[in-house]
Amino acid sequence: VVEDEIEGKIADQTVLTEYRERLLEAAREAATAAYCPHSKFRVGAAVLAGRRLFIGCNIENDSYGLTICAERVAIFSAISSGCRRIEAIAVACLGVADRVASMPLPCGACRQVMAQFANGDLPVIVDGFGEIPLAALLPKPFRL
Ligand SMILES: [Zn+2]
Repeated sequence: VVEDEIEGKIADQTVLTEYRERLLEAAREAATAAYCPHSKFRVGAAVLAGRRLFIGCNIENDSYGLTICAERVAIFSAISSGCRRIEAIAVACLGVADRVASMPLPCGACRQVMAQFANGDLPVIVDGFGEIPLAALLPKPFRL
């Protein structure tokens, strides 16, 4: 069992290395579809789940509270396709350099949604920033 677990982890790492750049590219591409008439802040996300890739972009609404982030659109796409665990997520913002002083890390709501479908070691890959495990972004997620 232990050997199987180790082999599984090695295989997972290989898959992640393979997909890291592809995820970032998919996230950048997804950002071009962002619907953001209010903020003009284009965000894209790409999720690896079950060896499949799911994308999302931010979608704003005139009723501001109904706006949803790219990360959650991508995660919900994976979940609604039958996946229950996400293995990696990449996030990219277009033309962000002149918009925000710090790197655009996922918001608190998206971190909590990630925690619902992943462990703390989920790699969160942020374009232009690098990779950070979910546990560093949300050390103590809400759990029922
Ligand atoms: Zn968010």
